[in-house]
Amino acid sequence: MTPKSSAYVDLQEIPAIDITCNHCGSIIRLPLPKIDLNNSVHCVGCNTQLWFDKSTHFANLLLLLQALSDYKRIAGDAKFTVGFSLPYVPASGDRVA
Ligand SMILES: [Zn+2]
Repeated sequence: MTPKSSAYVDLQEIPAIDITCNHCGSIIRLPLPKIDLNNSVHCVGCNTQLWFDKSTHFANLLLLLQALSDYKRIAGDAKFTVGFSLPYVPASGDRVA
């Protein structure tokens, strides 16, 4: 049996959300908590319009940012912790015992 490991992330520990342009790979980093979000954003690398105010992607991104920001703000008073686990996948150069 191969041992498997994972990394646990408490939502409160997430410092920022990265938005990566699927066209050129440029990254926009949105530090958390984030209160406002421009409703029309173009990529800084290739000028592709990433979202606009009527798009579902903008609405979902705004909800995600609001939820994460609210959680960071109130997490200290909560009786529970919210997080997720990521499976650990060794890099090709990692030595596996
Ligand atoms: Zn781009």
